[in-house]
Amino acid sequence: MAGMTTTDRLHLDPAVVDELRRPFNGEIVQAGDADYDQHRRIWNGSIDRYPALVARCADAADVGRAIRFAREAGLDLTVRSGGHSFPGHSVSDDGLVVDLSLMKRIQVDPENRVVRVQAGVRLGELDQATQPFGLAVPAGIVTTTGLAGLTLGGGIGWLMRKYGLTIDQLLSVELVTADGELVTASESENPDLFWAVRGAGSNFGVVTEFEFQLISLGPEVFAGAVFWPMEESANVLRFYRDWITDVPDELTTIVVHRKAPPLPAIPAELHGRPVVTIISCYAGPVADGERVLAPMRAFGSPLLDLNARKPFVDHQAMFDPSFPNGWWYYFRSCEVDTLSDEVIDITAEHAQRLRSPLTAFPIFHLGGAVAQMGDDDTAFHGRTSGHIFNINATTSARDGFDAEREWSRTFWTALQPYQRGVYVNFLMDEGDQRVREAYGPAKYDRLRALKRRYDPDNVFCHNQNIPPA
Ligand SMILES: Cc1cc2nc3c(=O)[nH]c(=O)nc-3n(C[C@H](O)[C@H](O)[C@H](O)COP(=O)(O)OP(=O)(O)OC[C@H]3O[C@@H](n4cnc5c(N)ncnc54)[C@H](O)[C@@H]3O)c2cc1C
Repeated sequence: MAGMTTTDRLHLDPAVVDELRRPFNGEIVQAGDADYDQHRRIWNGSIDRYPALVARCADAADVGRAIRFAREAGLDLTVRSGGHSFPGHSVSDDGLVVDLSLMKRIQVDPENRVVRVQAGVRLGELDQATQPFGLAVPAGIVTTTGLAGLTLGGGIGWLMRKYGLTIDQLLSVELVTADGELVTASESENPDLFWAVRGAGSNFGVVTEFEFQLISLGPEVFAGAVFWPMEESANVLRFYRDWITDVPDELTTIVVHRKAPPLPAIPAELHGRPVVTIISCYAGPVADGERVLAPMRAFGSPLLDLNARKPFVDHQAMFDPSFPNGWWYYFRSCEVDTLSDEVIDITAEHAQRLRSPLTAFPIFHLGGAVAQMGDDDTAFHGRTSGHIFNINATTSARDGFDAEREWSRTFWTALQPYQRGVYVNFLMDEGDQRVREAYGPAKYDRLRALKRRYDPDNVFCHNQNIPPA
């Protein structure tokens, strides 16, 4: 690898890069190539990094080659599937990106209700393949998110209270280790690794393929959003807290505070108006969903009610316009047990202070099937939490970003006395202690011991990192 420096990013020795390119089935993109900019960018526009190489892998063999090449060359290695990491862990300056976005194969077996999915698949692409059979993998709430990163951290979304986390339907993974070897992990093969992959996966290798159990869904569901004026936030949240205590597990809801976006479904006179919304998805018979949602839809004087019978894939895409590629995003997140009066008052107070027309912060309702699986059965931590706050600050570019980020931090700090943990996929770069909090001390120690076995040199370090014991 003579001749290569990691700082001379525009002038990597072509002979060295050819050592990788020659046996490679996919494509190697290098600084200076016409499409370099397109392939270096990630979802969060506030992160602007310049890798030395983007290895666009076509198969698991390419992944192994890219890992070995990066290690021999002393290049920093990052892994990218959907590129939706909040803190931008999938790209680093002067490093090598193992890019899985070309690996899009989806094989649905409707008879056995199993799907095999390669790591480059996005949530919406998977739904498009499974929903024609009335089947689904429970996943997240924005269709462009990468299935891989989401699954490896746990996976929360519209179907979780009925069917659990994304990892709860995971049967096995194919994973390339730090040595470049392809292994399978499942309950029966490498069970320790399979335990770790379900919640801390990005630390243990590059998953090239997932095998999931499929659940029955729709294809139509009863779902949508009810809007109230933001000034009603505390009243709406108090009603909501009481109402959700005995709703069925089929119902998953998310409360969002924001300024109403200028979307065709929203009347023009509401555009820009601060609102509190309860967004629902009923993962069961449509008529039951309509009945269960009735008391909430009748509460107070809503400004707008968009609940209706609709294809699940349409509901699944409803947040897409609010989280496009390239805007500037910052997040602070935490879990709380309940929406106590104190938590509600803090939320209502801080929600009124968000400034940006693009900021939309969700509060997810957990429970149901998420809490029914044993907390120690997987590396994921926090199954018994009540709610997840994801206080994101969003602007279209640099203008106003610092002020909105400060708002998010202040809000999060006010919630500190009531916090009980954090979902690993919603962390920014917040330090070792926060990663430890995300797993709890016992799991963190077990993960550190496994990290020593599977990745003693911490090759996979651009993630919510678990240092080898
Ligand atoms: C708009 C938006 C909506 C979201 N909604 C939800 C939601 O509803 N529910 C939820 O649970 N989360 C949600 N998230 C968080 C999401 O789960 C994480 O950001 C996740 O990491 C994204 O995965 P990715 O493949 O797109 O990310 P990437 O940026 O490609 O990767 C993220 C991390 O995973 C690692 N990684 C990626 N692919 C692999 C692989 N194949 N093998 C090993 N490691 C890998 C990377 O090294 C990196 O550390 C959302 C994020 C965004 C931006």
